Amino acid sequence: MAIKRLTKQRRAVLEVVQNAKGHHPDAAWVYAEVRKKVPRISLGTVYRTLDALIAEGYLVPLSRPGEAVRYEANLDGHLHMVCRQCGQFFDIIHPLPDLLSEVRARYPEFSIEHVQVEYEGLCPACRAQDP
Ligand SMILES: [Zn+2]
Ligand SMILES: [Zn+2]
Repeated sequence: MAIKRLTKQRRAVLEVVQNAKGHHPDAAWVYAEVRKKVPRISLGTVYRTLDALIAEGYLVPLSRPGEAVRYEANLDGHLHMVCRQCGQFFDIIHPLPDLLSEVRARYPEFSIEHVQVEYEGLCPACRAQDP
């Protein structure tokens, strides 16, 4: 039974992040949402489940220094704009040139494992507050 419950919790956590399209929730938000479906889940279990889902390739962590990790369920390789005030990540859905393939082709001796490109600035909501 323990395994079945774990699977149900894992699915619930993954669904919450997937349904938060474009929102890139942090663990606290995921915890609040998952509890609506799985009331007895603990915050520790949510963190462990998120880590497991990252390890299994279902989620990607979005981290910035001094901020809670946010979680991405959209794995199509899109880029982000990040607000320096509220820390939210916004998807860039405009098609972009495949720089990674180009850089790999140009520097084949370097084994690239991870790319992180962010466009930083102020989001519309924060601009409205602080003109
Ligand atoms: Zn903002
Ligand atoms: Zn995104």
